[in-house]
Amino acid sequence: MQLIDGKATSAAIRGEIRAEVARFQTEYGFTPGLAVIIVGEDPASQVYVRNKARACEEVGFYSEVYRLPEQTTQKELLSLIDRLNTDEKIHGILVQLPLPKHLNETELLLRISPAKDVDAFHPYNVGQLTIGTPVFLPCTPAGIMELLRRYGIDPCGKQCVVAGRSNIVGKPMALLLLAANGTVTVCHSRTPDLAAKTRDADILVVAIGKAKFVTADMVKEGAVVIDVGMDRDENGKLCGDVDFETVAPKCSYITPVPGGVGPMTITMLLQNTLKSARIAANQ
Ligand code: NAP
Repeated sequence: MQLIDGKATSAAIRGEIRAEVARFQTEYGFTPGLAVIIVGEDPASQVYVRNKARACEEVGFYSEVYRLPEQTTQKELLSLIDRLNTDEKIHGILVQLPLPKHLNETELLLRISPAKDVDAFHPYNVGQLTIGTPVFLPCTPAGIMELLRRYGIDPCGKQCVVAGRSNIVGKPMALLLLAANGTVTVCHSRTPDLAAKTRDADILVVAIGKAKFVTADMVKEGAVVIDVGMDRDENGKLCGDVDFETVAPKCSYITPVPGGVGPMTITMLLQNTLKSARIAANQ
């Protein structure tokens, strides 16, 4: 069994991005910029936003963080997004989710210019991914594809099973594996006999949000197992959707939690922002 080290891979990619930012500044005379908007005091969101700002600093990006009060109105947010859409210093705009209940998330995400939609949540970018001509890739599934690539795991011709069908992980993950010529099965909470499906997988991606749900009897000998879950076990310790202790010995490759998929997500956000800046530079 080989561990897929997301932390080391992410650090290597950030090094590559840092070098490219330096080249970019010399060649085009400006710095890629990311704007992050957070509304309210949700502690987990505050941590995510801090990490994103830190990552921008690490690779030499320009960044702006808008920490807005809980009572911010829809109109105020829409006008901030409008301003950022036309701000030449900004190449990526990100609205941290979840938003307070009184705000209309769909309207806000639709307002972000698809050219600056580095989370790839806008229906335009979702559509581009679906027809096979993506500009920005959704960050968590893109991070997983990058891990597979860097570990020499080719989904072509493999039986790929994705457990979970959310818009941010499961569905785009299935599309990316399909684009890489995997044969893809998507499972969800209404799938009868989930274990029979997961046992079929050469590559199993689990994104269901249930601590240690996937056990050894649900995994084929020699499978590649990618654990997207970020859950808490009975002692409040961070763990994944896969019961790592029992499943790992059966795998050819497996991602740990923490240190697997997680570190790659923000790195792919940086990569999307760099791509957006490159497109802007060439226009
Ligand atoms: P989500 O929106 O809650 O979706 C969960 C999916 O799992 C749904 O499609 C659901 O099916 C399915 N599901 C739930 N219970 C199931 C069961 N018993 N059997 C089969 N399928 C089941 O979650 P998400 O946003 O995709 O996130 C999933 C996990 O990944 C969470 O732990 C989250 O914290 C983590 N995550 C990590 C990262 C990262 O960067 N590492 C990023 C995003 C998410 P239905 O559609 O039928 O309800």
